[in-house]
Amino acid sequence: MTATTSFTVATADNDSSRRASAIERTTTQETTSDPAARTEVPAAPPIVVDRSAKISRAEERVDRVKITPAPAPEPKAKPEPAPEPEPEPALDGCSGEATGTGSNGQVPSSELCDLWDGQTHVRSDAAVALAEVNEAYTERFGEPMCITDGYRSYDQQVAVKAAKGYLAATPGTSNHGWGLAVDLCPETYAGERWSWLAENAPSFGWDNPPWARPGGSKYEPWHWELTEEVAQVES
Ligand SMILES: [Zn+2]
Repeated sequence: MTATTSFTVATADNDSSRRASAIERTTTQETTSDPAARTEVPAAPPIVVDRSAKISRAEERVDRVKITPAPAPEPKAKPEPAPEPEPEPALDGCSGEATGTGSNGQVPSSELCDLWDGQTHVRSDAAVALAEVNEAYTERFGEPMCITDGYRSYDQQVAVKAAKGYLAATPGTSNHGWGLAVDLCPETYAGERWSWLAENAPSFGWDNPPWARPGGSKYEPWHWELTEEVAQVES
């Protein structure tokens, strides 16, 4: 019996110690409401604000604003295109078109045009092409090309032959008789000007032909002609 009693006591002791523990816990909980005790409570983890996330959202909003199509602007009245300025004629009053009528030394005046010097004339197509050479030449050398001879009628060819002999073509055979050749002034016979002409004039159809160059059948560095058209009249 005794043992049983002591067991009971022990149990009672246990119960009382549990109760005491409970009271202790209660007391502890109560003391936490005391401001002084709160300082012992570990501070709550700081709230981390993810600013980068905010920024990215802000950027997202900006993007959305950007994507939003702007209202179409009021269509403005299309300005009328400025009229193309008429190209300056290479040679005033010269059509540049020739029919090829007439014969050597007998080319009608309707086929011929005066050059910029106001006195030399050549066939219309040759005149416009040579005026274009002259524009480039003038830009390069600061003065127009100087010409001594252009078209020669049959009678003029007879006179030139009488005066120049070997240097002049047999009357009726000169390219000057077709209005397709010119003779230039001495400053172009050699050097920079001749070289410039030899390099640039062919792109306008004019050239100092091989027979007139050094080593050719007749050295005439002053003689230039509209090569393709000359080939046509000679064929
Ligand atoms: Zn000539």
